[in-house]
Parts: sequence; structure tokens; C-alpha cells
Amino acid sequence: MLIANIIDKQKENLHFLGKTDKNLDLISRMITELKRNNITEEALNNSINDIDNKYIKLKLEDINLLYNEFNKTISEKFLDNDDLLTIVKDKISKSNMFNNSYIFIDEFSGFTKQEYSVIEELLKIANEVNITICTDTLDKSNENDVFIENKNTVEKLKKIAEKININIEEAVELKERLRYKNDELKHLEENLYNIHPKKYLEDCKNIKLFLANNNYSEVEYVANNIVELVRDYGFRYRDISVITKNIEDYSSLIKAIFKKYEIPVFIDENKTLNQNILIKYILAFLDVFSKSWSLEAVCGYLKTGFINDISNDEIYKLENYCKKTGITGKKKFLNEWTIQTTREEDLEELNSIRLRLINPLKDFLESLENGKTVKDITCSLYKFIEDRKIYEMLNNKIAILMNSGEIDLANIYSSSYNLLIDILDDLVDVLGNEKISFEKYAEILKVGFNNSNLGKIPATLDEVIIGNVDRTRSSRKKVIFIIGLNDGKFPGTNKNEGFINDEERIILREKGLELAKTTIEQGLDENFNIYKAFGVAEEKIYLSYSASDSEGKGQRKSILVNRIKNIFPKLQEESDIITEKTYISSKDVMFDELLLQIRKHLNGEVIDDFWLDVYTMFNNDKEYAEKLKNAMQGIKYTNIPEDIKKENLEKLYGNELITSISKLESYRRCPFSYYLKYALKLTDKTELKLERVDTGTLMHDVIDDFFEVLKEKNVSVKDLKDEEIEKLLDEIINNRLSLRQNYIFSSIPKYVVLTKRLKKVITKAIKYIINTLKYSDFNVLGTEIEFGKNKEFDPIKIELEDGKSVEIIGKIDRIDIAENQKGRYVRIIDYKSSVKNIDLNEVMAGIQIQLLTYLDAVSKKEDASLAGTLYFNLIEPVIKSKNKHLTEEELEQEIRNNFKMNGLILGDVEVVKMMDKKLVTGPSDIIPATLDKEGNLNENKPNVLKKDEFKILQNKVEKIIKEISKEILSGKIAQYPIYLAKNKKTTCDFCEYKAICGFDSKMCNNKYNYVPNLKKEEILK
Ligand code: SF4
Repeated sequence: MLIANIIDKQKENLHFLGKTDKNLDLISRMITELKRNNITEEALNNSINDIDNKYIKLKLEDINLLYNEFNKTISEKFLDNDDLLTIVKDKISKSNMFNNSYIFIDEFSGFTKQEYSVIEELLKIANEVNITICTDTLDKSNENDVFIENKNTVEKLKKIAEKININIEEAVELKERLRYKNDELKHLEENLYNIHPKKYLEDCKNIKLFLANNNYSEVEYVANNIVELVRDYGFRYRDISVITKNIEDYSSLIKAIFKKYEIPVFIDENKTLNQNILIKYILAFLDVFSKSWSLEAVCGYLKTGFINDISNDEIYKLENYCKKTGITGKKKFLNEWTIQTTREEDLEELNSIRLRLINPLKDFLESLENGKTVKDITCSLYKFIEDRKIYEMLNNKIAILMNSGEIDLANIYSSSYNLLIDILDDLVDVLGNEKISFEKYAEILKVGFNNSNLGKIPATLDEVIIGNVDRTRSSRKKVIFIIGLNDGKFPGTNKNEGFINDEERIILREKGLELAKTTIEQGLDENFNIYKAFGVAEEKIYLSYSASDSEGKGQRKSILVNRIKNIFPKLQEESDIITEKTYISSKDVMFDELLLQIRKHLNGEVIDDFWLDVYTMFNNDKEYAEKLKNAMQGIKYTNIPEDIKKENLEKLYGNELITSISKLESYRRCPFSYYLKYALKLTDKTELKLERVDTGTLMHDVIDDFFEVLKEKNVSVKDLKDEEIEKLLDEIINNRLSLRQNYIFSSIPKYVVLTKRLKKVITKAIKYIINTLKYSDFNVLGTEIEFGKNKEFDPIKIELEDGKSVEIIGKIDRIDIAENQKGRYVRIIDYKSSVKNIDLNEVMAGIQIQLLTYLDAVSKKEDASLAGTLYFNLIEPVIKSKNKHLTEEELEQEIRNNFKMNGLILGDVEVVKMMDKKLVTGPSDIIPATLDKEGNLNENKPNVLKKDEFKILQNKVEKIIKEISKEILSGKIAQYPIYLAKNKKTTCDFCEYKAICGFDSKMCNNKYNYVPNLKKEEILK
């Protein structure tokens, strides 16, 4: 915390370092390294002058500045742990504690400079100093020797003794290996790191090698064997240890699997406080203030499990309401909520939850009104913890954990409170009078939490110890499991060089500044640690590795596996098949295995008859019978939903399906998502967001109002001037925005800006719409025309073969009508807020049938021939021309191209010219039609249909509507999402129900509804 504060204060003076958490860790480790290597500020300062390399110089200058500041600050009132050995060294000669003593130093392979200084002082006053070093000989001829660092240590110790004239006795060599109970383990110890290993030609009984499918089955293998060793061979759990190089990869798996096998376990790992629930609560509380009461921070605080006066249900109500109404920020939380978004909403209740939320937060803030030093905030925080009875709540949680047997977690919870208080005390000691923001306070506190760990003491004496190879204590164990022997992991690839890299360390060493070891030297240490781990077992050693990691990625075996196989040619590698005998290790394990076997049986595989007896046993067991029944239902589960039952169908639809074309299309896109959306009515939480649907609705409404006003005033759209259009549109848009249902657009400043842009787009679009009418013989017959009972158009009725019927209701954006000497023509226009076109393949798939259905109905009612059905895309024009200097006219042309309508048109040149009176040759600006030099229409285009082709298409569409309706009325709701061959897109790509549907095209019953990419001729034949 102190270093974090120093870095923050000195950030302007640092030239190499930025201010990030990563640097904080680097700097802390660097300062420790300097102290452990006895490097004083003066020595560091001198070496800077000696260095020519600019890059290293900058680094050293930064670290020098921080080192000085750190030492200066602590010298005033603190004692740094890293200085303790230096103080010890200074005190040894002044104390008579070690005079004439016999000192034994055991289990070290090397020492830091600080430690060497302490040994030097001890050598001066003790009678004897005995130091044990693990090595084969004292000969240093091989540089890759696993004992090389230990041999270096011996040399350094000898030099110290010589320097102070202390006599060194002849080294005592302990040659006999008393630890091992069999020749195999002895042979392994002698040969694992021997450059000329000897082969062991006998059978291997005490070394096992296992290749697991994955980490999970690897840990299961270990658990099975431990149970067997304890149950059948008289070993105790405390005789067994599991060693790995990557404890983080295995820790949670071991906890879960060992619990299932009822194996008591102690995992020797460091846990930082940051993941603790109490700490998360404190940090979430501070986040509310440092993140300016953002909704995310407030909800984070509410959901930490320590708010006992607001129920979970109330938290969700509050969150939903805030999202719907855009409440975020202090002011909005402190003021009363008055917006009613639905009739059912209880504002009184919501405000009561709000008050329970804000009152303690307000009290906390008020207590800090007179100042905000670290001490002030800490005292207020402490009072808040007391007032909210956090200690009592934590104790309740601990009691629940204790009762459910989660002793380990209960112990962690219990130490976390004391640690929290200690860290708060430290914070006040170190930075008490500093003025500080909440943000900075939370940041420094996080550093404190990050650097404290919840190290724990083994809860019982008889338990299996799991440890990292680097922390292996060479205490005697009868059986060792070494797991995770995979390439790149065991041994690891150590790349963490620290603030000073390997190359720089060597340069500095040459200049007399001896820092810690390089990563290559650390690699030698790692080899020694591995050697020690392999040498711990007295009777048996189990080695394992897995073929894939936790994400399913393949991985190779470690070089150590090959080395061991080479030394022990008769060592048999076991595979991932668990023998039947091992099932009986615990009831739970056997139960799980039974379920696996039943699934295999259901998939047609042959299983042993023995499993029938196991099934009968569990079925007759009081404790397991119900569990088995439920599991059997689960086993038979597929993710395909059952059809809706007949009685429920009748309740849902009766004998007549009243629906819209867009719902029918939605069913075809995927019956299951249709069911979730329209039958179960599952929707996302409403959030205050300006989405396309909102902009689309506003545009539709404005266009509708515009034509409505013209109708009322009896003005022809073709007579309007630009200024009149703009004035009218301005009035309509402002009016629409002031209506309550559109408050979204005016409630947040960001949206007010967006609204201005929307106004521009709508104005441009409407001007263009008017032009398309001015240059055509078509006139608007009506806008927003509805199909339905008592509407302008009757609902579209379709009779099904089984006597049931479908009634289609809906709305058309615009119908235009024109007339020539051959008769009347009708066309349909649909406004879309995204680019859209009609694709005949999608029509045939039933997902684009809306406009054709309406066109058919309108042409029949108006007794008019079909002229086309078109989309008008209401999107802001984007000019993509490469020419950056377009003239006014060219720019207009580009905009016209952007607004050009898409869709199907009748292949009749006269009708085309009625839709675009200016068209003589070439492409039209208004509709998707092109005339050649002779003025003939290109009828081969996919969007140009002859009269009889329109007829064929309409018959097909009617058939499709009948098919879809029949399927809906028969209750089919299975997942059958569309797959478009044209662009490989599927309905699932943007489906909001993905998380609950479980569709997986790789499963045998999950299939896509494939839509081919056929040509017009193939579709219409
Ligand atoms: S994810 Fe796919 S299959 Fe599932 S409901 Fe959505 S569209 Fe249907």
C-alpha cells in the first residue's frame, strides 16, 4: 500500500515506469530483491553512474528514486520485513545468545546475500556451524548438473569461512540411501538427472504411469488409487502427498473430486483476499462512490449478499425499474422516483426499496463532510461495518458452512474479517493523514487485499497434502502422486524475468551489482526442486499426465515421462480405463458410474450384467432411490421440446388461429423461438436504449402523421414546396417527441443529440418519398392501412383442410394506386429502418411472405392488377463515392441511389414507366428497373416478375401460409432454425433465446431448416 502511494506521488518523476498495478508488483519485488541482496541505496546510486546502457540507466534511476522514497518513509516509523535479517546480522555480535553454540542449518540449497551475512556472523561466534547441502559430489565439471547451484553454495560458504579465517572441517558424505523401501525408487533417484542413466530391467511394481483423457479423469485416477491404498493396503491419508507444478489448474478439481471420494485433503496454496465475499462487499461498497453511483456499481453492491434489509426480489425490481427509466448517478438515486412505466408498477414500494438502499450510503457520506483523509474514510467505513452488523452476518454464514461440513471455507471466512481489520489498521498507520479520493482509496485497499493471503494450517492431521513442486517439503511420505506431467508445464517455461531482465542482470553483475538469479539459473533451481519431489516417496510413486487440458486443447507428455520410460523399460503405461474394482471406492462414485453405464446401454453399447445388480441395489436403497428416479429422467432427456398437448393447444388457439404474417414468418424462422416469444411471452428486460425499433417506430409515426395531415388539409403531396415540407415535418416530429410514449428520445442528453440526427434523416427520406411520387403516376391510396375486424380491410381468411381456419391481421405502411388505358394497378410500399430486399428463396422458405400476401389481398379488394411490392429503406444515406469533390448534382444523385426502393416489380415496361416517369433508358433512380437502349425492360432480373409468375408465387405463398398454420395448430415447437445457403446465416445467430434453447447442430436430433440458393427460374417452375 505504501509503495502504491509512493508510485502515485512520484509518477511525474518516473521516466521508465507508467503507473499500473503491474508495475506496482514489479517494483515491490524489485525492492525486496535489492534488500535480500544487501544492495544499499548508495551502491545502487553508484552503479547508475557506471552504466552506459541508456535503457538500463533509466530503469535504475526509477527504481533508485522509489527505493530511496520507500526507505525514507519507513525509516520514520516502520519496520520492513525484508530488513529483519539485516537487523539480525547487526545484533548477533552484540548478543551472547550464540556464543559457544553448535548450530545446524539443514534443508537449504542456497542463500541470499542477507542470509550469507547472518551465517558469517554466526561463524564468528559459534563453536561449530554445521550446514547440510544436498549434492552427489563436490565436483563441478558439468554445468547442467542438477546440483550445480548447491555446489556453488558450498563454494560461497567456503569463501566466507576463508575470509574470516575459520577452519573448515572435512565434509561428511552421507552415501547410504536409507529412505527408500525398494530398489525402484532408489534407482529413480539415482538416475533421473544422471547424464548417463542406467536402465532398470526388472518389473516395475512401485512406479505407475497413467495417461488420462483430461485433467478431470486424471484427478479421478488419483482419488481412486488413494481410496484403494487406504482401504486395501493400510496406508493413512497423511502418508500420501500429491505434487503438481500448476496447483491453480487442479485445485478446484481436487476439491470437488476428493470430496466425492470422501478423501480429507489439505491444499497448500496461497489465496489472496480479493476473491473473498466480505472483501468483495467492501470493494463494491466503495465502488458506489468511486464510480459516481452508476447503476452497475449500485447493483454490484446490492448483490454481494450482505444487504439484509432488501430481499433478492426487491433488488431485481429496483434494477429492472432503473434500467427501464435510465436511472443512474447519485442525483437520480437520491431523488424520489415518479415515472410510472406500467400500470402494475408500485412506485411507493420502489421508493421504499430506494430509501433502504440510500440511507446507509448517505449516512456514510455525511460522516465525511468535514474531511476525507485516509483515516476519516477508514473510521467511517469501520462504523458502517459495525452499523450494518457485518460481523454478525459473516458469523451466520460461517455457522451455515460449518453445519454443512464446509470447514475449509468456513475457516477462510473466519480469518477474512480479522485480516480486513488488520489491513484497515495498516492503511491508517501508513497513510492516515493523506487526503484521498474514494477511487484512490479503493485502489490502495485493493493492493493491500491482493498482497495479503489467507494461508491456512492443515485442519486435521490425517489428510492428503497437495502441494506445488516448488514448495515441496521433503518430509517423508510413503506414497507420492506427481500429476500434470505435461510438456511446457512440468518442468515449466519460466519467462518472468522481473523488472530487470536476464541480460541486464548479467551486465549489472559484471559491474559488481549482484542481484537475484537469471531465469536460466532459476531453471536449474527448478530441476533441483523436481529432483527433490521425485525423491520424497519411500514406497510408491504414481506419475500421470493428461491428453487434453481443461479447455479440451491437446497437450503432450513432459520430457520427464520419456526419461522415466527410458530408465524403466518395463514400466507399463495405463490408459484412461477405470477397472470395475475401483467403482466400489465410495457409494457416490459408484452411483455416478452406474449412470454412465446406463447411458452407454441406452446408446446401444453392451455393458456388464453386473450393472443390473448395482441398479437394483441403489433402487432398494432409501437414500438413493429418489435420486436414481430423477437421474433416470435426466438420462432420457433430449433437448427437443415435446409438442404442445392438445388440451393446451385449444386453450391457446381454439379452432381459429388469429395471427399476423410477421408471426407466421417468425414461426418459420424457428418454431421454438416463436413458442418462447409468443406463447410463453419471454422477453428481455426493458432498458432505456435507443434501439433501431424505437427509431423505426418514430420514423413510421412521422411519415404516417405527415400523410394524415395532408389528407386532412386536402393538399396533394405533389404540390408541396421544400420549405413547406420542412416546416410541417418539424412540427410533426416535435409533437411526436413530446408525447409521453416517446419520452425515451428526450429523457437523456445523449438521445437529444441523436434525435436531431434522426430529424435530418426523416426530413431527407420524406423529401425523397415525395419526389418518388412526383415523378410517378401512382398516388397514395392510404397509409398505415389495417387488416382486421372493423378495419379498412377485412382480415385475410384462409381455410385449412381439417376445418380449422386462419385469420390474418396486420398493417400495410402504404398502398399506391395508378391507372392507364389497360386498367388499375396497385403497389405496396413498406418502410424499413434497415436495408432490405425481397429474396425469392426466402419467400419460398416462408420467411418473407408479408408483402406478397398483402399485395394479393389489396389487388383483389381494389380489383387492380399487381404492379409491385417495394421496400423503402429509411436509413441515413452514406455516400461511398471515391470522388471527394462531388458537385451538388452528383451528390444529390448519390443520395437518390441510397434511397432507391428494392423489391419485386411487374415486368411490364408501361407500368415501370408509370412508376418512374423520367425513365427512358438505363437504370431508374426510384425503382429496381433498368431499360436498355431500345427502351426494353430486362425481364431476366430476379426481381422482375411476369404477371403469370406473380400468380405462381402467390399460390405458393398461400400454400406456405396453410402449412405454417397447420404446424402451429398441431403444437409443434421443436427447434428448427433457418440456415441460408446464400450467406450461411442462421436464425440462431442473433437469437435472444440461445442461452435457454441448447440447440446444437452436432446433436443427432438438432437440424437446420436449410434454405437453398436457387435461381428465379428454378423457384418458379
Ligand atoms: S437458438 Fe436457434 S434453435 Fe434455439 S430458439 Fe433460437 S433460433 Fe431456435
